[in-house]
Amino acid sequence: MKFSVLSDSLEKMEKTSKRLELTGILVELLKKTPNEIIAKVIYLIQGKLKPNFEGVELGIAEKLVIRAISKSAGVTIKKIEDDYNDGGDLGITVSNILKQKTQTTFSAETITLERVYETLLKISTLQGKGSQDMKIKYISSLLNDATPEESKFILKILLGTMRLGVAENTVMDALAIAFTNSKENRELVENAYNVSSDLGKVSEVLAQDGLDGLLKFNVSLFSPIRPMLADRVKSEEEAVKRIENEFAAEYKLDGERVQIHIQDDKVILFSRSLENITNYYPDIVEKISDTINADNGIFEAEIVAINANTGNFLPFQELMHRRRKHKLDQAITNYPITVNFFDILYHNGNELLNYSYNERRKNLEDVIKENEFAKLIPMSIVNNTTDISDVLENSINSGCEGLMLKVLNANYRAGSRGSNWLKLKREYQNELGDSLDLVVVGAFFGRGRRTGKYGTLLLSTYDSENDSFPTICKVGTGFTDENLDQLFQILSNKVILKKNPRVESSIESDIWFEPELVLEVVASEITLSPIHKTGLNLIRKDTGFALRFPKFTGKIRTEKLAEDASCPEEVSALYKNQNKTG
Ligand code: AMP
Repeated sequence: MKFSVLSDSLEKMEKTSKRLELTGILVELLKKTPNEIIAKVIYLIQGKLKPNFEGVELGIAEKLVIRAISKSAGVTIKKIEDDYNDGGDLGITVSNILKQKTQTTFSAETITLERVYETLLKISTLQGKGSQDMKIKYISSLLNDATPEESKFILKILLGTMRLGVAENTVMDALAIAFTNSKENRELVENAYNVSSDLGKVSEVLAQDGLDGLLKFNVSLFSPIRPMLADRVKSEEEAVKRIENEFAAEYKLDGERVQIHIQDDKVILFSRSLENITNYYPDIVEKISDTINADNGIFEAEIVAINANTGNFLPFQELMHRRRKHKLDQAITNYPITVNFFDILYHNGNELLNYSYNERRKNLEDVIKENEFAKLIPMSIVNNTTDISDVLENSINSGCEGLMLKVLNANYRAGSRGSNWLKLKREYQNELGDSLDLVVVGAFFGRGRRTGKYGTLLLSTYDSENDSFPTICKVGTGFTDENLDQLFQILSNKVILKKNPRVESSIESDIWFEPELVLEVVASEITLSPIHKTGLNLIRKDTGFALRFPKFTGKIRTEKLAEDASCPEEVSALYKNQNKTG
């Protein structure tokens, strides 16, 4: 097909921003396009050469393009730069320069879309020594044979400045109309896009097999599935209202979402925005097949940075140390990670998107063999606000951000946000006005990672009336790597074999300490608790106070004695005050 068929349509599209008109022009173009090159047209109208996840970048620098224009038009670089400064758009500048040129020379052969596409693709792969000169050669050869109008668009694609406003939605409308004669089928087009992230491929299937092709459109390994997203809820109550019956509560980890495609030795990792991020995580590529008991599959997981000593989760930002090309080996050692699986979308050649959450989770549990590096995200079945609160607190205490609540009988809706997944994050709406100073009385090892350091600490207030240390909370968040190392050193000298008799606790911790070290902690709220002993019976029989979402502030109060810690009366006052204002 002549490239001018495309450039004429692009010219028309440039003149409008109305979605209906854009769709109409696109439909006309698609109908004129032979099936074999339909995907190429779909990419080019969006200013691309391949679907985003293939990471093909043109991104040619303006300077280089100017050199190419100078070569093919026989005009000095200075003249092009001057015109460009006046005009503001390099594509238009070139088009004008070439118009002057064509008045004097006789144009060469017509240029085909296939040739433009293949040449641009070659340019995108050129690298290293001599590649600049080769790029200039390719660009000027295209410009030599292109008309001024065609050149304008070739340059816009090369420079990445094509802004026609043809959003994916418009392209999908046009595909449905052009190949099925009805916008009604738009949803089928969208479904196919959601499971392939590749409108080029969708257009090929449509052009060749029409609706039938769409109905049979399959997930394929190494083409990412657009991720299912969650709606936000503000409270446990709202969650229960939105989801009737039982549902799954999974920890919401604070890391990077990854879609893992695996077959034999081949592993490709896609980010949430479907960028190929395999190169940042060679450790996943190396180790993940030990975990996955399947011939092939597509999995979703959260990559989380961990403290090398304790195995505790670290905040998302720590993962950014992996976003580098050089000295990645060092980053892998310094910033270890775990891979935490939460879904399976494809297994041994079968697509699982239409399976219920329940079935997928069971399948996932069968396929994943947990080890130090790879885990399943903890999940419990819940059906009331108290259950949700409990899991939420455990999740926060393990260094997570909150919960993902998932409807048990819902299938995986690729690319859509809806009520079948809800996210409930820690809220500090009801922040305590004050921080508390609490005594470390015990500790727990990180779940399943007994690498020798303390994960979560058990904290107490000081009750001067009874000269005792009643517990008030467990805390597992707010610790930096440094804090954890430092605390480990200090606390190692305070380990005792049995609970100190002055400590009042109904919780059995993994390790007990002499009640000596004081830490500063903040929390979102004080709640009544049947478990903790601070202020027992003060408000209600057999009930004490607990801190909701406690967080270490980073301050180790070495200057304080345990007997200087906050007392139950202080906590009680904060509790009453919070209920007055809250
Ligand atoms: P948000 O980015 O706040 O919209 O929350 C959704 C994100 O939470 C997902 O994209 C995942 O990266 C992350 N996430 C953490 N834990 C889970 C989980 N158990 N299930 C699904 N997504 C999770």
